[in-house]
Formats: sequence, C-alpha cells, structure tokens
Amino acid sequence: MELTSPAVIKGIAAKYGFTFKKGLGQNFLTSQSILEEIAEAAEPEEGVLEIGPGFGVLTNELAKRSEKVVALEIDERLIPVLADTLSEHNNVKVINKDVMKTDLNELIEEEFDGKRISVAANLPYYITTPIITTLIESELPLKSLVVMVQKEVAERIQAKPSTKAYGALTILCRFYTEPEIIRIVPAGLFMPPPNVDSAVLRMRFLEKPSVEVKDRELFFKTVKAAFSQRRKTLLNCLASSFSLGKDALSEIMRSAGIEPGRRGETLDMAEFAALADAIYEYRQSQN
Ligand code: SAM
Repeated sequence: MELTSPAVIKGIAAKYGFTFKKGLGQNFLTSQSILEEIAEAAEPEEGVLEIGPGFGVLTNELAKRSEKVVALEIDERLIPVLADTLSEHNNVKVINKDVMKTDLNELIEEEFDGKRISVAANLPYYITTPIITTLIESELPLKSLVVMVQKEVAERIQAKPSTKAYGALTILCRFYTEPEIIRIVPAGLFMPPPNVDSAVLRMRFLEKPSVEVKDRELFFKTVKAAFSQRRKTLLNCLASSFSLGKDALSEIMRSAGIEPGRRGETLDMAEFAALADAIYEYRQSQN
C-alpha cells in the first residue's frame, strides 16, 4: 500500500470515516524518501519505539528494518486502520495509549527485555517539547531519538549561547545527547499541511553526560532559574529561586568565574556546571 500517496490516504480516510484531528497533531507525512531517511537514521535494528503511528507510514519503514516495533497511538479510531495497513508485518505491536501517561521504563523492560532501543516519531506538534523532555529526563535505555519536530524546536535544541532560541531545552538535550538536524522539511509535504516548516532531528545519547556535575538535580534547577526571567540578571534570577542572599550569591558566582551582572542566557554548558557546583560547595560549607 502506497501510504505516502495523498490519494491512498484519502481512500483510507474515506473507508474508515476518519477525519484528521488538529488537536492531536495529525499531520501525516507524504514523502517516501524522508520516511526512509528517518527509519535509517534511527538505527532501529534491535528494536524501536514509535510515538504516534497515524496510518502506519513510518511504522512500515521501521518494521522492514527492525526486529521489533512498538507503536503508541492515542487515537483509538486509528487502531483498526493500523491492523489493516500493517497486516503484512508480524514484528509490530500497536498499543492504544497516550505516551505521556505511559511508564516508558516499564514498557521498554517488558517489550524489549531492557535492551537499548531507539525512538522514532513524527511528533504531534501540540506536545513536542513535553515528549522530548520526558524521553530525555526519564533516563531510559535509549540509543537515539529521531524525531520530526517544528523547525523552531530543532533550532532551540541546537542553539548557541546569547541567542533568543537558547534555553533550558538546549541545555537538557545537550547534557544527555548530541543533537543533529538531518534535514528541514517543508510544510507542504504533510497532509494536511501544518502552519510551519519542520525538521528531522537526531539526538544520539552520550555514554556519559557532556559535563560532569556534583548534583544533577541542582544543575537543572540552576539552569531553570537562570532562564526563568530573561530580562533580569543571573544574580536576580538565582536570588528568586534559591534562598540565598545576594552577597553570598555574588561570591558563589565569582568563585565559579562568572560575573554577577551577566544574564543567564550568556552562560555555556561548562559555566552552568561550574555555577551549580559552586552553589553545591557553598551549601556544603554551610552545613
Ligand atoms: N506517524 C504518522 C506520520 O508520520 O505520518 C503520523 C504522525 S502525526 C504528526 C502524530 C500522531 O501522533 C497522530 O497519529 C496522533 O494521533 C498521535 N498522537 C497525538 N498525541 C499522542 C499522544 N499523546 N500519545 C500517542 N500518540 C499521540
């Protein structure tokens, strides 16, 4: 079945009385070459988890290359469609569940014997950042994430310090993974087309985080605080998030080699690590 052909998509929709739900981010990809590229980039041989299979167009490409594909789809109207479009594969399991309400550690353990797998998805736009954040923060046994996202989200993940796009998402992704934009995808290649262009992003998980920190939770709290109010100096942002006086904070910042007047968005990853470690040391010295 040519699942990328607009005529076939319309035919399946008519057969099942399916109407696209914008609220569920249902923009289906119609480019065979990009689907193949995503499937290859995911290196799915040992196992792959797909989020949001839709009519199964990417699932099909993954199934050809993988030992086992598990696909989580929130929309129950798609379950009978997928049984039909994926009928030639016996290595695919479709689960009718919301990815945000699924214990992914448990699912990977059960379905893939705890093996390191990849995640591949053309992500629903309304929930892109929460899904990426959950997948990265949950410390799952993952090799890589290969996802179609809004171009603007891919640019935020790749952003450099002192730019508008740089933020807590950049740091989170770069702490655990090496992100790489594989290609930009114009809105016209989706059915129906979304309002913005997209990008295929691959994030390969690193063997160990890109910087060493004394306390991971404190590191991410520091990052979150630094970006909480972009108009304020880093000193003021930290003062509102940590119960520490400004004199102590200035001293902490200087000991980390950071001028208190700087803004959070100017710090690079190593500086955030030095700052979080300096807060950690200060707290230890007060105990
Ligand atoms: N994989 C298909 C493709 O590439 O054409 C469809 C991608 S479409 C952008 C996103 C899919 O995610 C839809 O099938 C939608 O129903 C599903 N979806 C939306 N929210 C979801 C959620 N919270 N959990 C699982 N699937 C979800």
